[in-house]
Amino acid sequence: MIEYVHAVTSPTLSAIEELHTIAVIGAGTMGHGIAHVAALSGATVHLYDALRGGARVGIGKIAKNLDKGVELGKVRQDERDAALARIAAFDELGPACAHVDCVIEAVPEQLELKREIFTDVCKLAPAHALLASNTSSLSIGQIATAVRDPRRFVGMHFFNPVHVMKLVEVVRHAGSAPAAVALAVALAERLGKTPIVVADSPGFASSRLGLVLGLEAIRMVEQNVASALDIDTAMTLGYGHPMGPLELTDLVGLDVRLGVAEHLTTVLGSAFTPPKLLRDKVADGKLGKKTGEGFYQWSSDGKKR
Ligand code: NAD
Repeated sequence: MIEYVHAVTSPTLSAIEELHTIAVIGAGTMGHGIAHVAALSGATVHLYDALRGGARVGIGKIAKNLDKGVELGKVRQDERDAALARIAAFDELGPACAHVDCVIEAVPEQLELKREIFTDVCKLAPAHALLASNTSSLSIGQIATAVRDPRRFVGMHFFNPVHVMKLVEVVRHAGSAPAAVALAVALAERLGKTPIVVADSPGFASSRLGLVLGLEAIRMVEQNVASALDIDTAMTLGYGHPMGPLELTDLVGLDVRLGVAEHLTTVLGSAFTPPKLLRDKVADGKLGKKTGEGFYQWSSDGKKR
């Protein structure tokens, strides 16, 4: 049984009105999406990726998504231009963390990597900055042990694609200050999202439920129950889901889903055992939309074929 301590004292955090600059660490699938909504909300964004040039690639993807928003009449041209002008690309962590009010980490789902990053971030970011991880399944409490002041550390679990999906799970660990949780909730709202507050338990609320459906759908493909498209159609037309579990797996990334499944197998048990088909596809580099093939084929302009 996890005990949650609510009586932790509050660190000195910015008020939401003073939260002007956000560093996003990792410019992949999630990081560029978080940078997109942060910039569109009016924040200055420092987008950093360890891969040289990776942050610039991320900004290119944001520009493409904003252009689409303009085309669909969801974003005005001046909003698009202003949002892009507020994002700067960084190849070094130090300058990316300087003078920020918040750091949101979106690097691969590996506990040690995230812990290393937060050890460095704590030395580089101002002491008042809210620190958040976008992990979809790792323990926020375990990552927090690398944070110098864990009271200002929370989970902010965004959904893919970030500029479209409305939910953010704000995850509080045993030492999160109520003020940090409240600030993360206010930030999610400012980014146009609907936050829910979840305790730090494996898979939080969403990944735990969503993954069971995704893994079972993969087992059904493996057992030739139906095609990927027909299984997805069963969920979209039969259950009213906006997207089937296999298409969602392609969007999330098969490697990401495999990593989460492996982790949840160790902490929650065999319901999360990754199917062989998932392992085989990952080993073959068929990671979903980002590599052009997963359970579906994807064209270079991001359309399902
Ligand atoms: P991704 O592989 O698309 O992107 C990760 C990025 O981090 C890459 O650009 C990589 O170059 C960069 N990176 C690697 N090491 C780094 C380091 N040390 N410093 C800075 N950047 C580094 O992964 P993703 O799908 O964006 O997932 C990121 C996180 O978000 C994971 O924790 C994942 O579980 C979580 N998440 C993913 C999804 C999803 O649908 N993909 C949804 C919710 C949450």
